[in-house]
Amino acid sequence: MRIILIGPPGAGKGTQAASIKAEYGIAHISTGDILRENVRNSTKLGLSAKSYMDAGKLVPDGLIIEMVGERLAAPDCKDGFLLDGFPRTPQQAEALDMILQKMSMVMNAVALLEISDEEVLRRLTSRRVCTSCGEIYNVITRPVKTEGVCDICGGKVIRRDDDDESIIRSRLNIYHEQTAPLIQYYDKKQLLKRVDATGPKDAVLKLLNAMRSNG
Ligand code: AMP
Repeated sequence: MRIILIGPPGAGKGTQAASIKAEYGIAHISTGDILRENVRNSTKLGLSAKSYMDAGKLVPDGLIIEMVGERLAAPDCKDGFLLDGFPRTPQQAEALDMILQKMSMVMNAVALLEISDEEVLRRLTSRRVCTSCGEIYNVITRPVKTEGVCDICGGKVIRRDDDDESIIRSRLNIYHEQTAPLIQYYDKKQLLKRVDATGPKDAVLKLLNAMRSNG
């Protein structure tokens, strides 16, 4: 199973991905997570990406495409993968098509998580994440038991720098300008599946299961 998750920041791509990964056991490739790890480790890629990420802007296509190309060549992607946060521009989508063609692979589905800008703002300004295990919390709907400490692994729970309101607005604008054109791109390829992002956390998994049982 090879799947792409598309949706604005805060649509719940990471949450939906977790349930898909748990059931299908496929590689979960979150470009945002890979970049954040590179920033934490001060790699060359991390140093190049940091200023874009802090400003809520997209990291240049060349850097991202190379990074994803290397990741998709890893052995754990052979039996399927889930792309979360990539592609985000038409250039990235075209580059992905080329990479897949070279590997003689095709995508099975592109799930679009639909949500309003207002709901995204509401969710992200109250989002907190664990810097160790990546668990996602919310100060209103799912607070940690002890302030700043992950309930699961004891790691440090923080608000991401790019979850600041003005940066969220800028990320939303970039989504509408640069990522939304991909909706048409994948609709034309008959791969697009629309999912209500305010519905259950396993809505995409259910859709994939239904697709599988329909052959
Ligand atoms: P995310 O965790 O997916 O919201 O990504 C966090 C940040 O990483 C984004 O705001 C971008 O700066 C950068 N990023 C992640 N994925 C991509 C991508 N496919 N293309 C460009 N920048 C990306």
